[in-house]
Parts: sequence; C-alpha cells; structure tokens
Amino acid sequence: MRNFSLKSKIIAIFVFMVILPLLAASLGNLYLVIKNREQNVLEYQNLAVNNAEEKITKYFNQKIDNLQLVISGPHTSLYELRASEIYFFLNNSFNAERYKKLDLIDKKGNLLASISGQNQFSLNQAYEQSMSSTSEHIQNYQEFIAGQKLSTISRVEGNVSSLADYQAAIQGEKYFGEVEFVDGQELIRIASQVKNSNQEIIGVISAELSLQEITAQTNSIKLGNNGGIFLLDSEGIVLSQGFGNSFPLYGNLNSIPEIVKLKNNGQIGLGSYTQFDYKEQKRTIAGKKVNFLNWFIVTDWTVDDAFSVVGNILNQSFAILFALVFLSAAMGLLFSRQIIKPIEKLAKGVKRISEGKFDHQIEIKSKDEFRLLADQFNKMTKVLEENKNLRDEFVFVAAHELRTPVTAIKGYMEMLLDGSFGQISQQTADTLKIVNKANDRLVQLVQDLLEIARSEAGKMKIEIAPLVINDLVKQTQSELKSLSDEKGIEVKYTADKEYKILADQGKLQEVLINIVGNAIKYTIGNGAIEVWHEIKDGFLYTYIKDHGIGLSPEELKQLFSKFYRAQNQDTAQIQGTGLGLFICKEIIEKMGGQIFVESKRGQGSTFGFSLRLEK
Ligand code: ADP
Repeated sequence: MRNFSLKSKIIAIFVFMVILPLLAASLGNLYLVIKNREQNVLEYQNLAVNNAEEKITKYFNQKIDNLQLVISGPHTSLYELRASEIYFFLNNSFNAERYKKLDLIDKKGNLLASISGQNQFSLNQAYEQSMSSTSEHIQNYQEFIAGQKLSTISRVEGNVSSLADYQAAIQGEKYFGEVEFVDGQELIRIASQVKNSNQEIIGVISAELSLQEITAQTNSIKLGNNGGIFLLDSEGIVLSQGFGNSFPLYGNLNSIPEIVKLKNNGQIGLGSYTQFDYKEQKRTIAGKKVNFLNWFIVTDWTVDDAFSVVGNILNQSFAILFALVFLSAAMGLLFSRQIIKPIEKLAKGVKRISEGKFDHQIEIKSKDEFRLLADQFNKMTKVLEENKNLRDEFVFVAAHELRTPVTAIKGYMEMLLDGSFGQISQQTADTLKIVNKANDRLVQLVQDLLEIARSEAGKMKIEIAPLVINDLVKQTQSELKSLSDEKGIEVKYTADKEYKILADQGKLQEVLINIVGNAIKYTIGNGAIEVWHEIKDGFLYTYIKDHGIGLSPEELKQLFSKFYRAQNQDTAQIQGTGLGLFICKEIIEKMGGQIFVESKRGQGSTFGFSLRLEK
C-alpha cells in the first residue's frame, strides 16, 4: 500500500513529465555537442586562418600603397628631380625597422638611388652627370650635401631590368617577391611605381621589407591553450612559428604529407576536420594559400587541447544538466510535500473521528482547496461532537429516568413473590418469576447505560486506594456461587499471598463480577474456571481462564467495543447487553491498567488485566 503512496505518484509524475524529458533533451544535446566537436574545432581553425589572412592582406596592401610615389609635376624622367627631392622621397618612405633598403630605378632599369639608413644614401653616376647640365641642380646638390653634413654621396650602379621586381612594377603591377633570408632576417622584396602628375610611370621603387611586423601579428593569434598560426613559404619552409611553437623556424616541412597536400591543393583541413601525427602527438591542421604572396597560412593545434576547449562546452552542458535535474528533483519533493502534508493532516483527523474522538481540529495554512476541505472537515467534526453530546445526554437522561421505575418494579415483584401481599398460585408465581428475570435484565441494562454515560461525560467517579485483591476475588466467588453451582462449574482461585494493589474497590469488584460472570456464562456444560495472579514490572496481572466457547480472531478484534456481542450458535441462547467488557475496559484504563484477552474458538478464553501494585 505504502509503495503506491500519493507522494511516490507525484514524484513519478515529476520524473516522467519533467526530469525524463529534460534528461532526454540534454542527453540529445550532449550527443550533438560530442558529435559536432570536430565541426567546432574546424570553425575555430577557419576563424584563425581567416583572421591571419586578413591581417596579412591588409598589411601588405598598406605597405605597397605607401611605397608608390606620385611626383607633383609633369616630369617625364627621374633625372629631372633635384638630389634633395630624391632623398626626400626615399627618406619619407624609409623606416629602418621595416625596410632594409629602398631602391629607386629609372625607366630603363638602372639603379638611380638607394637609401638604407639615415645617412646611407647613394646616387648613380649618370645622375651626377646629368646634373651638370643644370646649374640649379648642382647648387641644390651642394646645399643638400652641406645640409646633411655629408662630404660625398656614395655611388650605386647597376641595371636591374632583367629582375622580376622591375619588370612587374614598370608594367604597373604590384610586386611581391619570394622570402629571402639575410643575416638571420626574413625579407621580402616589394616593388611599385613612381608616377608623375599625369599618372605616367617614370620609374620604379623597390624595397626589401622585413617580415618582423607581420609575423608578430600572426604569431599573436591563439587557438585554445596551445594552438597557433604558422606561415610557410612556397617551398614549405617555416617563416614564422606562432603560439604552440612546434615546428622548427626556417625548417622544411615537406616530409609531412599534409603539408605536401596543402602545397599541391592550395588548402587543407578547412572544409573537413584533418589531423596528423607529428613527434608522436596528434595534431589537427588547417591551412590555405595566400595567392599574392605564394605563402601558406597554417593552423597548428594538438588534438587533445582542441577537444578539451570544445569539451569545456561539454562539461558546462553536463554541469547545467545536473543542476537542472537536481533542481527539478528538489522541486518535485517540495511540491509533493506541499500536497501530501495537508492530506496527511486530513487522514489523521479522519482516523481520530473513526476512533470516536471529535476533539481534533485540522490546521492548514495554505490558501487553497485543502484549506477549504480542512474548514469543512472542522465544521463536520463540530457537528459530530454536538450530536454525540446530545446522544450521550439523551442516553443518560433516559437511563436515569428508567432507573426509578425498574427498581420499583423489582421491589414490588420480590414482595409479590415472597407473599408480602398474600398467597399467590404456583402459576402466578412462575409467571412473576419470568417477569422478574426480564426486569433484572432491564435493571442491569439501565445500570450499564448510566455507567457508560457517566464515563463518557467524564463523570465516572474512581477513587483509587490500596486494597487487597484476594478479598475481592473471594467475594466474587461467593457472589457468583449460585450461578456456578447451577451450571456445575468450579471457580478455582490460587493465590500464595496477599496482593496489595491501587484501585477503586467498588469498580474492581464490578470488573471481577463481569469477567468471572462471563466465564461462567460462556461455558457450556461444565468446565473449571481458574483465577490467579502474576507480578510483572510493578503491576499485578490477574488472569481468569475458562474452558468455554471461546472466540474467533474476528470476534476478538471487536470484543471491547460498545454493544458488541459475538453472534454464533453458542451465544444465541445466552442473553447479554454487550456493554460489560466495554465498561471493564474503561474502568481498568481509568485505574492506570490494561485489559486483554487470549482465546480460541471452542477451547476457551483467558481474560486478564493489570493494575499497579502498591509499593
Ligand atoms: P454481554 O452482556 O453480552 O456478556 P460483555 O461485554 O460482557 O457483554 O461481552 C461481550 C461479548 O463478548 C459477549 O456477548 C460474548 O460474545 C463475548 N464474551 C465475553 N466473555 C466471554 C468468554 N469468557 N468466553 C466467550 N465469549 C465471551
């Protein structure tokens, strides 16, 4: 019964309606997270590669745009410029940290001027010669040397018309060369045009740009805890090694198949998750070619770290899931308590009513239907209590009013029978005896009812005092002697000493008469009745054993209830009210003891009661 309590039902409803769907949804979600983690890693990689590509493209475009020279004036040859102007243009574009060298090349591919440091400026011979034709240029040249505090300007010579930078730039293209390694520095040659105000190309400007600035930018891109970006040149040589630092700088990675694939296909691992082993470590890779540079941007990340970063989402999802499940379980318990508690209170109240106690009021504070129910219940209890009081009062008044006439009848009946009003015939005497017996029963019933009414009104008077029970048992024996003799039953009493107990003498006598009387009454044929005592835990136990008709287990259950009489073949002829044992129980309990019975149908019964011993 308890297994299917309302509480478990409510919890079950919660589990099925809230927790299970929640669990299912969350587990499904987790499954997707796990399933998608490669996809998530891929997204991280794509982001990093695109970020690096954006940085590189922006950087180089900016640098080459800055490099282009537009000279104001419609000069058709660079040789028309003054030496100070040439220095000004080159020096303006020059930045020692960014560029190793800037070269100015004339239309035919001759090196005209170079700058490679504050005072490291050189011009070619042809320019010096062309100067002599204009005295203004010579004057400017001398003033320029004096201004720069130079004794002479160094020479630069050579024709670069066969070189790629010149060839591209003179055609109007932007030129980005291959990476060169010079004195432990990575340089890339870039070249653009020198134009006049008519946008005509009148020369080329070519520079050796250091990669330091841009690699510092790509190196700062991070993936998780150990992933980063590295750059490869067209040959597969490591140009820069960002966060993670797993490959040797300037090393050649052509031995790694994934790198070869990248070189051949122009990209790897961007559309689908790719991993490879490097130095006994699983790494995931993604990369793409930067076309205008002929380089490759590649991500490098250990698989462990990649998955752990994505896995954090997993852990968070787990944490949230557990928190949710815990919360709903707690809510479920709380919720079920809220519902169960008032029901338990109501059940307790109903139980008390079924026990005949109407003093219980149910207190429910919540303002809901349970409160309504409790209020109605309390009203009902009040009505029941009032009814009970009315009924008890009625029984008491009725019994009280009946007592005088039935006692009078008894008196007159006895006087009639003993001839106080003159001689009566045998037939009249026999009839009167029957009437007298019936009246006796009526007297007993009225007495019992009065006793019960008094007990229930709390008016049963019990005066407890020390007394010797042996005397009372013996008195009972003699009072019932005519009854027992009539049935040929012997009431045996064994007591090795006198027992002093605390009880109300009159009431105890009533109990003994009732129980011993019952033992005689419910014995058919003859059979001895034994009465004896036992001492246990400060109490005296008195037992009355008969060998009479006995009681079935079902009968035993209701034995001490008001008006209960066992209904069977044997009891059919035996008269009684069903009130005796009820009264005995009331009396014994009021005296601080307990009454009990053991019985088997057809074998007899043993009634017993306990009463406190006098110390
Ligand atoms: P009653 O006036 O009917 O005897 P009691 O309250 O004394 O009322 O007893 C209640 C019922 O208990 C009896 O009707 C009888 O069925 C059963 N009973 C009581 N004492 C005995 C006994 N010693 N043996 C068998 N049944 C008994």
